[in-house]
Amino acid sequence: MTDINFDLPSDILDEIQQNIQNIIESFDIPDDNKFDVIRKINFMYTQTKQLSITDALTNLYNRRYFETAFAREFARAKRYNSDLSLVIVDIDWFKKINDTYGHSCGDFVLKELSWLMAENFRQTDIIFRYGGEEFVILLTETPSETAGIPIERLRKIVEENKFRYKGYDIDVTISAGISSNKDVNDSCEMFDKADKALYTAKEEGRNRVRTFGL
Ligand code: GH3
Ligand code: MG
Ligand code: MG
Repeated sequence: MTDINFDLPSDILDEIQQNIQNIIESFDIPDDNKFDVIRKINFMYTQTKQLSITDALTNLYNRRYFETAFAREFARAKRYNSDLSLVIVDIDWFKKINDTYGHSCGDFVLKELSWLMAENFRQTDIIFRYGGEEFVILLTETPSETAGIPIERLRKIVEENKFRYKGYDIDVTISAGISSNKDVNDSCEMFDKADKALYTAKEEGRNRVRTFGL
């Protein structure tokens, strides 16, 4: 069995450690193989946890983990009076890409875009695949006035990136809607406002970034 360095958030690792400790304490394991048992449980538990919060296609965090992480970040920002921005990114005319070049080409675009996002954001920003061709990014310590800067940069990177699939050059653009915690009462309202801003970006012609209230 090899040790794997799972890239999990520290609060999840704490939860895992606590649960493993509970398991160990509830069994009467002989001292001479206790270490091996702990290592084995640690490996299996951590791997399972990793899979449960990750999207298999893109390797980004999934929607289930978004719900947990967003609640935590929203509460944290409120507690410390800090800024938090939420971004919903949606691929433009994605159905047409699938219909024209096939579903596996659509999957290729999702993977390449995920890679571009992971490359272009800070370590402290958290990226999720929310649904089919929709992504959410939590920008910590970022107010609405500046949240548009990295998202506009991403929009441009995607527009200029060469998505090449089986000899075809695929034109890919994204639209994004942004909201910030200082303009809302609760996390549901924050999500709704980002969604409304995304809707505005789509209505205004797509391939653009809109921030609610700006
Ligand atoms: P808009 O610019 O308004 O966002 O148009 P759209 O075509 O992107 O939006 P629509 O909601 O009509 O289509 C989304 C498409 O995403 C439809 C669905 O087939 C596709 N899709 C969802 N999940 C996946 C997936 O995992 N892989 C692939 N290849 N396609 C997916
Ligand atoms: Mg969509
Ligand atoms: Mg779309």
